[in-house]
Parts: sequence; C-alpha cells; structure tokens
Amino acid sequence: MEIRNYINGKFLDSLSNENLPVINPANQKIVGNIDQALDEEINLAYEAAKRAFDKRILLDMDPKEKSKMMRAIADKLREYKDIGGQLLSQENGKTIKQCIDEFKGAADTFDFYAGMTDKIQNKLIPSGKDTFNYVVLEPFGVSLQIVPWNYPISIFSGMVAQNWIVGNTIVIKPPELCPISSNFYGKIFEEVGVPEGIINIVHGYGEVTGRKLVKHSGSDYIVFTGSPEVASEILKETADRIIPCHFELGGKSAAIIYPDADIDKAVDSTVKGIFKPNAGQICVAMSRVIVHPKIKDEYMTKLISKSKKLKIGSGDNSETEVTPLISKDQMQRVSNYVNSGVQSGATLALGGKEDDNQEGNFYQPTIFDNVSTDATIAQEEIFGPVTSVFDFETEDEAIEIANSTNYGLASGVFTADDQKAKWTAERIQAGIIWHNDWFVDGTNLPGGGYKKSGYGRDGGMDGIYSHGQTKRVSKRLY
Ligand code: NAD
Repeated sequence: MEIRNYINGKFLDSLSNENLPVINPANQKIVGNIDQALDEEINLAYEAAKRAFDKRILLDMDPKEKSKMMRAIADKLREYKDIGGQLLSQENGKTIKQCIDEFKGAADTFDFYAGMTDKIQNKLIPSGKDTFNYVVLEPFGVSLQIVPWNYPISIFSGMVAQNWIVGNTIVIKPPELCPISSNFYGKIFEEVGVPEGIINIVHGYGEVTGRKLVKHSGSDYIVFTGSPEVASEILKETADRIIPCHFELGGKSAAIIYPDADIDKAVDSTVKGIFKPNAGQICVAMSRVIVHPKIKDEYMTKLISKSKKLKIGSGDNSETEVTPLISKDQMQRVSNYVNSGVQSGATLALGGKEDDNQEGNFYQPTIFDNVSTDATIAQEEIFGPVTSVFDFETEDEAIEIANSTNYGLASGVFTADDQKAKWTAERIQAGIIWHNDWFVDGTNLPGGGYKKSGYGRDGGMDGIYSHGQTKRVSKRLY
C-alpha cells in the first residue's frame, strides 16, 4: 500500500521521491510505504493552510454546516472502521478489536464536537453604564499538529475536531511508525468534500519532516503529543517566534491502593492499566502501584497469578491480551530499563524477558517489587508492560511517593472511603485522578498534564477553549 501526502484537498504525487517502509511489529513484514514530505511538500501544506485561514473558511462557515461536515466525517469513520481497524492493527500491533474501537471512538469524538459548533458562549462584561465589553474566542491561525503512534486515529480526531471548532486550520503529521491508517482521514475528507486547505496531512520521520515542520515559520500554534524530549526541542526551536504550544506528553502514573480497597478490582485495574491496552505503550499506563502492607500480599499474589496467564501474541488473534511493542528499538529500550531495575536492587516479581516468540516484538508482563523511589525505573517512562510496586505506611507517605516524579498525567486511588479519595485527589499532582478503576473516560471529559506531562487540556469544552485565544472588544457608548 502506497500512502501519499494529502495537501490542499488532494492526494499529491511525491515531490521528494523519498519513500519509507512501515513494519508490522508482530512479524516484521512490510505493511506499506509512505511518501516522506520534504521542503516542497511542507511549503505547499503551510501555504494551503494559510490560504484557508485567510479566507476565513472555518470562521465564516455556518455552525450548522460545520456540524454537518463533522457528522459526515463521523459516519465515514464508522463505515471504514473494519478495514481501517485491520490496517491499524497491522501497523501498530494492537488487537483488531481495539483498533476498530479506536475508529469508533474517533467517530464519537467528531460527533461530540459536531454538537458543539453552535455552543461556544462568549462573554459580555459590564464595567460602567457607558461602556460595553465583550470577549470572544478566536483561533491562533495555522496549527501544526504532531501525532504519536500509540493512538494515532483517536489523537488525530480529538485534535482536529477541537481546532476546527475554534477555527484553526491544520498541517498534521501522523507518526512514521504507524501512518497508514491515518490515510483514511484523507480519503474521508475527499469523500465528504472538506474545503481545500483546512487540513493538510504530511508524512515523514520525526527527525526529518517533523523537525522541518517545527522550524518552518508557517505555523502560528503547535499541538504536540509525544515525548517530553521532543517537546523541549520544539520549545527551544520556537523560542524566538514566541508561538503558543499545547503539549500532551508522557507519564509515570501511580495508583494508591488503601487497605480498605476492593483488592480484586484493584488487580483487574492494574492488569488493564499496564498490560492489556497496547502492552503498556500508553501515556496514562499504571506504571507505578503504591500499596498498603496490610493488603500487599493478597494484592501481589492475585496480580502475579492473573498477569502470568495473559496471552501474549499478535493483534489478529482474538485471544491475544498482550500485543507487541511497536519496534525493535522499543524492545531494546524496555530491556535496558528492566536491566537497570534489577541492578537497582528491586525484586523482579514477574517477567523481565522478551517472549519466546522472536518473530514479533513481544515482551512479557513484568512486575518489580520493593522499588526505591529514586531508581530509574521509578522515575522514567518505560512505555512497555512494566510496573513498579511500592509500600507505604501513612497517607502522607503515599502522596509523597505518588508525587515523586517529574510527571503528572494520570493517577488512581482505590478506597471505599470517599472522604479519603477526595483528600488524596486534592493532593496528587496530576491532570486526571481515577477513583476505584483505571480509564474512567469520555469525549466530554477534559484531560491533560501537570509538570513534565505537558500543558493545555483536551476533551469536552475545556479542550475547545484550550486551543484558542480570547479577544476583548470594549466600546464607549455616547
Ligand atoms: P515521539 O516524541 O518520539 O514522537 C511523537 C511524534 O513526534 C511522532 O510523529 C514523531 O515523528 C514526531 N517527532 C519525533 N521527533 C521529532 C522532532 N525532533 N521534531 C518534530 N517531531 C518529531 O513519541 P512517540 O514515541 O511517538 O510516542 C510516545 C510518547 O508519546 C510517550 O512519551 C507517550 O507518553 C506520549 N503520549 C502522550 C499522550 C498524551 O495524551 N499525553 C498520548 C499518547 C502518547
């Protein structure tokens, strides 16, 4: 399968003549190729987005028309969910069901924001009998959006839908490790008749196309979902231009399990929080568990027993529970972290090895116990099926451990006591706190990072306001 760049409303034959292979992480076979966008394509994409912005296509579009366009995209995403889900599973490794669900979720996101096109409420602010002030939400202009490989279809939908509501036009780069399924967006935009230039999709390696896109002066705003290292590079690169950035970055999310928690539920949440969805390659993975000694033995016994039985395999097998890591590099990275965990003196309670099936990038569910809070495995994002367990005596100590990393994306508290859950939620530094389960989510709910996990919010109304800026108009009445 050959994937072209989608610029100014059409798929474009390659100008750079550079073609990149995309590998199936379950068997190392080539799934397809993408055209890498270099300077010429990038210029065309930014020019198209700027023209569309200057023509006020999104800003002057009737909200009902915008809503219709977004609902039509949602319908098409549902139409293509099966074939799109198959492809996503081949290039990304997740189960076919998860991938079909990702298309369905992306459709729900477009539907949700389709319902928001006429619901932005601006403000009228009184300040004396002879003045009149109003404040409106306005776009930044052309937004550059850079997407990671772990949830490329859902991240694309959320970022695009919210930016269109505000009126930003878009140049977007899907991830090079998993770009093919994003091609459905170009196909859908063509079929729906999305106006030229309001979205342009360009492909390529992060270090090549991504860097060029960031360095280009065509963007007025950057929305980046990915690692803190690249976010930092983007900030340095754009420092002179002083353009706003929106960052959804990594995490080292912790669950605190109090002695009165439902242990079976906490175990199920851990399994789905770190092993099942995408083998821990998820920004909000439960990569740390802080558990009270009173219940620790029971929790560990049950967790190890369940995790041992998980079926490791490729995403096209409906029995699979733990899917492959995205690449050989990622396998090496996870292996290095596990080795460093062993060297730090932590107890390897389960796993710690590549799976016997060498064809794909399969890694065993891995649990470390007795981890020191300053160990590398306790501090850095591993992005694999590896979690670290800690003990605590007092509630203050649990909070101290939860807040002991530079990250602050998600976290959880397991307790039957709502007062304690509230007390805990108030003290954990993270953008999302889940109580008694992991992944209690919805398109209408905002999320985002504290600390090194980023800034800006996505989801619900907060997401819309996060992708724009306000303008005040003040009038003196004669
Ligand atoms: P990454 O930072 O390596 O890459 C993300 C995107 O940036 C890709 O499209 C890549 O091509 C591009 N890129 C890479 N180097 C670049 C550069 N120098 N200049 C411009 N663009 C560049 O991250 P990844 O490995 O794709 O994704 C994993 C990371 O993303 C993890 O840290 C994870 O936690 C984070 N993530 C965060 C969220 C969230 O919502 N907070 C969601 C998903 C993933």
